[in-house]
Amino acid sequence: MSTPEPTAFTPLAALARGLRERRWSSRELTRHFLDRIARHDGALRSFITVTEERALAQADAADRRLAAGAATPLTGIPIAHKDLFCTDGVLTTCGSRMLANFTAPYDATVVARLDAAGAVTLGKTNMDEFAMGSSNENSWFGPVGNPWDPTRVPGGSSGGSAAAVAAGLAPVATGTDTGGSIRQPAAFCGLAGIKPTYGRVSRYGMVAFASSLDQAGVFGHDVADLAAMLAFMCGHDPLDSTSSDVPDPWLMQAADTPPAAPARAPVIGLPREYFSGLGTGADALDAARRVLEAAGCRFRDISLPHSPMAIPAYYIIAGAEASTNLSRYDGVRFGHRCENPQNLEDLYRRSRTEGFGMEVKRRILTGTYALSVGYFDAYYVKAQQLRRLIQNDFLAAFADVDLILTPTAPGVAFPRGDLADDPIAMYQQDIFTVPASLAGLPAMSLPCGFHAGLPLGLQLIGPHFGERALLETGALFQRDTDWHRRHPEGFPA
Ligand code: GLN
Repeated sequence: MSTPEPTAFTPLAALARGLRERRWSSRELTRHFLDRIARHDGALRSFITVTEERALAQADAADRRLAAGAATPLTGIPIAHKDLFCTDGVLTTCGSRMLANFTAPYDATVVARLDAAGAVTLGKTNMDEFAMGSSNENSWFGPVGNPWDPTRVPGGSSGGSAAAVAAGLAPVATGTDTGGSIRQPAAFCGLAGIKPTYGRVSRYGMVAFASSLDQAGVFGHDVADLAAMLAFMCGHDPLDSTSSDVPDPWLMQAADTPPAAPARAPVIGLPREYFSGLGTGADALDAARRVLEAAGCRFRDISLPHSPMAIPAYYIIAGAEASTNLSRYDGVRFGHRCENPQNLEDLYRRSRTEGFGMEVKRRILTGTYALSVGYFDAYYVKAQQLRRLIQNDFLAAFADVDLILTPTAPGVAFPRGDLADDPIAMYQQDIFTVPASLAGLPAMSLPCGFHAGLPLGLQLIGPHFGERALLETGALFQRDTDWHRRHPEGFPA
């Protein structure tokens, strides 16, 4: 490769500059990351499918486009997709035995838009089955290791995307976040990760988990990389009736003009419910607050009183929606089908029994229960009412503050197996991420320090369609800190 070589952790803008200036080709760049995957992914299992041939063909096409002067800031940049974005001609397993052999006949809108921009897909990343989990231990394809300590979990459900980016196997990766599945793995792996406002990015072609909550987003090392990806991912899509048709001109040009510190430093709320009893990470958050204060941000104590209701409400709503969304896997049209079914009932029963893992079954059972006659009002309707109260808390808070700062997760990455037999403890991992999901708000996790050698994350939550404020404040924080420039030792650049 021509000098100076791009490293595994070179920001997207610098990779793109190198491509434009012919310091390296997209084929060289793609080869570089494919080689790293071959060398390191045995220990991590962050990819389910590596699309080497296709990636090199896309890279060659990108090199032709660069030569023709028709490139975008993403043309020729290697990326990875969470394995729940449908990819025409490439397996989309969703981490499940149910879809282990499923190849979608079309691309998700996110995939199509990034392809059209000229990005090169390295492969599809591992994840908790149907995006249900916080540790990536629920994958049919095996657990993912955390690059900072492979005996620990990378978080979930987008753990493969997070581990791949943290280890420098891909510069950026897509993820999805229903209740924290981008933010929590970003925190555990020392990355920046953003879940945009519900409706900002099309859900078309994302395998559905909980449709009123699911949203696509990105992992990267810094906010400029998140913004560059979102610029192409965002925007109205007639194929998703919940996608917003209000364009965001600022976000759409964020690949060309990366976010800079905001013109006016924001007023940031600290919700007391999120900090009471916080042990691990309290010092790092305090230090982060001082950094932001020194840069002109002002802080205000606020209250989001219904926060303690968020976990129960989320697990009822998400389970209910999952139980209906997953009824389509019946062994008839696609997905796993049992051998020699005796009759239709047997076909349904055995195909679903064999195809789904434990956690998915738990969600289908609890979700079906919450929707059943006699329990609907007591569970589902009640959870929806709580959801509204939680949203109202945020709307009231945003009358006084521009953004809200919280921890992303209650602790650092935990050892594999620690919470695997305790679903309630696992669900508690989402305590700080789920409220913003229920309210449909954009939220981002940024690296803010370490505890016992493992990364910590802070979460910034914005008002609806407040991605600009999030990314600009993130740019301010990353200008004055270098946590996002630390990388795990086992995966040298
Ligand atoms: N951990 C949460 C769950 O298991 C969130 C998952 C997600 O955001 N996809 O539902």
